[in-house]
Amino acid sequence: MITGHWCQRGRGIGLPTSACVGVPGTCSVNRPASDAYESVGLMMRMVKVAAGVALLGVLVFGYFARRLEWPQGSPYKRDPNPVPIVVIDPGHGGAPGGVSVSGVKEKEITLDIAVRLEELVRNKGTAKVFLTRRDDRPISLVERRNFANTRKCDIFVSIHSNASRNSKKNHTEVYFSSPWSEPLARSISTRLARNFSLEPRVENVAWTVIWDNWAPLGAVLVETMYLTHQDGERILSSEQGRQRVAESLFTGIEEILATHYQ
Ligand SMILES: [Zn+2]
Repeated sequence: MITGHWCQRGRGIGLPTSACVGVPGTCSVNRPASDAYESVGLMMRMVKVAAGVALLGVLVFGYFARRLEWPQGSPYKRDPNPVPIVVIDPGHGGAPGGVSVSGVKEKEITLDIAVRLEELVRNKGTAKVFLTRRDDRPISLVERRNFANTRKCDIFVSIHSNASRNSKKNHTEVYFSSPWSEPLARSISTRLARNFSLEPRVENVAWTVIWDNWAPLGAVLVETMYLTHQDGERILSSEQGRQRVAESLFTGIEEILATHYQ
C-alpha cells in the first residue's frame, strides 16, 4: 500500500499527484492510496477511450448508411401501372416549416410549386396525380413514403429548397435512393440546371422519404435551389419563378414517362 497526498481537484478520480502536494486548496485530505483507487482511475480512462471509439463508429456508420444502395434485383421493384401515377410531396408543413429567409417559408414555396406541378400533370391528362399534403399540416417522412407506396405510384417527387450559411452557394441537387430512380433524378436535375443556369448535382443518398419507396420509374428528393442565395430567394419568392420551377420538374417527369408510355 502507498500512502501520500491525493489530489481531489486534478484530472482523474483519486489519482495521486506530486504536483499538488503542499499547494493550498488542491489537497484537502491525506488519504491512504490503494490499488482500488488506481484501478478506478484506469477504468475511467478505458471508459472514455471506449466512448470515443463508439462515437467514431457511429459517425462512420452514419456516413455510409446515407449511401446505402439497394440490393440488385430488389423484390420491391414493381412493373409500372398501365396509367402512370405521380405522387408529389411538398416538403415540410406545420412547424417549423423548413428554411425561412426574409419571411418566405420553405413549406409555402414547396406547396405552391407542388400545386403548380399537379396542374401541369393534370392538364396533360396522361397521368393520375396525388399530393401528400394540400395545406399546412405536419406529416412525417415515413407517412409521406407510405402514402406513395400504398398508392402504388410510378413516380415520386419530394420538393424542397436548400439552405447554407454560405450565401454564395447555389446549385440544384437531386437525390435518389433506388438504382432505377437515377434516370428521373438526372432528368429533373438537367432541366432545373438549364432553366436557371445552375450547376446540376445528382447524388445517391438514402433519405427516409425516398428510401424503400417503391416507385418503379423513380423516387427523388429535389433541392430545387438555395433559398439562402439572393438569386434563389428571388426566384422562389416570385410566382413566375415558382411556375418555372414547376415546369422544369414537369419536363423532367415527362421525359421519363415518355420512355415507358407511348
Ligand atoms: Zn427542406
